Amino acid sequence: MKWYQMNADQVEQKLYVTTKQGLAHKQVDERMKHYGPNRLESEKKVSKWLIFLKQFQDFMVLVLLAATLIAGLLEEYVDAIAIMVIVFVNGFLGYFQEQKAEKSLAKLKEMSAPSANVLRENKWEKIPTSDIVIGDIVRINSGDRVPADVRLVRSNSLETEESALTGESLPVQKHTSSIAKDHLDVQDQRNMAFMNTMATRGSGVGIVVGTGMDTVMGQIASLMVTTEKTTTPLEHKLAELGKVLIGVALALTALVVLFGVYQGHSVYNMFLAGVSLAVAAIPEGLPAIVTVALSLGVQRMIRKNAIVRKLSGVETLGCASVICSDKTGTMTENQMTVKEVFLNGTTLSVTGDGYDIHGDYFWNNDKVTNDFPNLENMMLYGMLCNHASLQVKKGKYVIDGDPTDGALIVAARKLGLQRKWNDHYRVVKEFPFDSERKRMSVVVEDDNNMRFLITKGAPEALLPRSSYVMKKDGRRQMQYDDRKHMNEAIDHMAGKALRTLAIGVKPLSRDDSLTSTSLEHDMTFIGLYGMMDPPRKDVKKAIHECGDAGIKSVMITGDHEKTARAIASQLDLLPEDGMVLNGQQLNNMSVSELQDIIDQVYVFARVTPEHKLKIVNAFQEKGHIVAMTGDGVNDAPAIKASDIGISMGESGTDVTKEASSLVLMDDNFATIKSAIIEGRNIYENIRKFIRYLLASNVGEILVMLFAMLLAMPLPLVPVQILWVNLVTDGLPAMALGLDESEDDVMKRGPRNPREGVFARELGFKIISRGILIGSATLIAFMLAYQGDPDNLIYGQTVAFTTLVMAQLIHVFDCRSEHSIFSRNPFENIYLVLSVLSSIVLLAVVIYWEPLQPIFHTTFLGFKDWLFIIGMSALPSILFGFTRK
Ligand code: ATP
Repeated sequence: MKWYQMNADQVEQKLYVTTKQGLAHKQVDERMKHYGPNRLESEKKVSKWLIFLKQFQDFMVLVLLAATLIAGLLEEYVDAIAIMVIVFVNGFLGYFQEQKAEKSLAKLKEMSAPSANVLRENKWEKIPTSDIVIGDIVRINSGDRVPADVRLVRSNSLETEESALTGESLPVQKHTSSIAKDHLDVQDQRNMAFMNTMATRGSGVGIVVGTGMDTVMGQIASLMVTTEKTTTPLEHKLAELGKVLIGVALALTALVVLFGVYQGHSVYNMFLAGVSLAVAAIPEGLPAIVTVALSLGVQRMIRKNAIVRKLSGVETLGCASVICSDKTGTMTENQMTVKEVFLNGTTLSVTGDGYDIHGDYFWNNDKVTNDFPNLENMMLYGMLCNHASLQVKKGKYVIDGDPTDGALIVAARKLGLQRKWNDHYRVVKEFPFDSERKRMSVVVEDDNNMRFLITKGAPEALLPRSSYVMKKDGRRQMQYDDRKHMNEAIDHMAGKALRTLAIGVKPLSRDDSLTSTSLEHDMTFIGLYGMMDPPRKDVKKAIHECGDAGIKSVMITGDHEKTARAIASQLDLLPEDGMVLNGQQLNNMSVSELQDIIDQVYVFARVTPEHKLKIVNAFQEKGHIVAMTGDGVNDAPAIKASDIGISMGESGTDVTKEASSLVLMDDNFATIKSAIIEGRNIYENIRKFIRYLLASNVGEILVMLFAMLLAMPLPLVPVQILWVNLVTDGLPAMALGLDESEDDVMKRGPRNPREGVFARELGFKIISRGILIGSATLIAFMLAYQGDPDNLIYGQTVAFTTLVMAQLIHVFDCRSEHSIFSRNPFENIYLVLSVLSSIVLLAVVIYWEPLQPIFHTTFLGFKDWLFIIGMSALPSILFGFTRK
């Protein structure tokens, strides 16, 4: 018998579990041991050896190794061994950089791993999807990815989209009855939900019957074991640039070799020098350092509560010019408290804050209790048409579920109503809330088997569906005046930044068919709740900072226009001449009409998720780079279409998380701002080390080229060139990736996403610094050498030291877009330490006698150092004054 042929009891018996209790932890452990984690094994691991060997597959490194072999054959053992050692150390460095990048990427993946709701030992818990075992009871809500193959035992209008399995993109309705037929295709197993398919509506509960590779998805996944590595646009640009740079470096090196040979140097010497120079000058490490910088930045973002799902998102973050953010939960606390109640045509005020159940009802300053007409009923209905539960954790009241629902429970508790009231009522049918319908309904049966419908939702959704109104003395037909009163009450509440929610009821007969269209009309309007949802503390500041950074903040909300306007004003988001558009107005506009005015719009109110796509498109057409937040299933298309899709870590659904490139762990708008600062900083850091590496390389090549043109001996020998490359390119370049942002990073406008690698004078800076570093080194060499062959080693030591020191000073120059003097050099401790360690290594090859013959060095005195430091500081200091 297949799972879909069994009824719920049979499934329970077979898997030794009850839907009421869930599995015991002991059973879970046993099953985990037996079946393993609930994961699709779709990734092959690349062995560490392969990663290590890959460091040597570069063409020029291979040529260098071959050249070393020749040196060995010519019995130049010292040179050969020294070069080999340097090449290996370089290989290790590359290996560690790559490992670091891999590890942080793996960590990222782990952080964004999906979770699921399971019932174990009678308690609902949120656990990582991989910890699910066969027999677990799981709850699936709209927006969730189904975590395993489950046999459904409860379904509230549950629909799933199974295109990944069946190719059919229309959602399928699910039920819970057993199906007698045999050999059913996946799409016909309507009482089953399958791993990795998406719940698009409703909710349900099911028993897990298949996990990991034993699921329908697993069978497909086993057929396509692939690993895919995506590159970010910048990595791609750099890879393209790398090819050009290799060509240029090789051509210049060839010139050096040709001139050298022409000037009478031995072919062997020039060949080895040429190959070493090529190895040093080709920035082969650039892509790896970019990945390291990206992932280091990503880790810093995690510490600030932002998880980047796609590395390319980091680059785009720095270009964002508009942030469209949901109001509820992102700009506000999402901690709803009922502050006012409108019923019987009058308004009551409610005291108390947050979810604390202490508070009272007042009417004209007089305390009222549950004998106030209709009040108790209204609160009871609010509790019944509800999904949340109130819990006490660590002495504090917290809500499990939707905060809007939670507020109604707290309001009922303030009147003395307890949850046990619910025991007298049974929910027979539920039509869940979604932002499209803006309402939720339940069909309830009481102890006398009487049925009635309760609907709560946005007043605009309820009023047109109400024909009666409840008054002090009972129900009566709704009059024009009643509607007018209600609209005034709604306006009044919204003006005080309160979120408005209406509630209504309707008696039903037992043979009414239970569909939302046939039931949700001719209702009796009971009353209105006005709820406070305070703005988050740090949002106002973040909006100001974004404004300074040339980024516009836009509020998008399903709430009433007036509520939205009031909160936007509290947050300083809406300037005096700023516009507020509502969903209706949006409907009547084409994208191009919207585009014409969109720069003046700061708030979109009473919009549905569908409008978000239109908003994104209009901003993009206007040339903006748009960051868009979202949490529900229907937000996914807009999130996907935006340049930076942002989802909510706490309240977001799996679907939006998967569509997004950034997840906010704390759902907070201010975190977007922190992520943007970090995104800008990461890009700036990448610019910093591109500038550093390339200027250093230009300097290295030029010193050799000028020397050959001027018919001089080699100012640097091959081991020295390789050593410079190893010591200066390694740690200092990585330390630049850890640099803090410059103070004015949020005072500049957003970056143009189409700007090239060398934009904003980077090209000029690289060439000018490179020429100066090369010239300073050559002049130092000439002054020390003075044409005397006895001085050659001394001259080479001075040139070598000047080149290294010039680069180590230049690295501080690279930290700023302005000048070396504009930042405190000791701010970046990693950079200071890496420069110090490079200086120690330099001292070792100069002063440790056994190394002197290997590195062709000799002792330097105090005066030499003064001269060298003067020469090497010259390039950075000269430009320090020009601020270019
Ligand atoms: P955003 O996150 O976009 O700011 P929102 O919370 O303002 O979203 P929705 O969640 O779409 O917008 O809610 C719109 C309206 O629907 C609310 O103003 C309220 O009247 C009503 N509403 C909200 N939550 C519920 C609920 N759980 N049950 C019934 N009605 C609700």
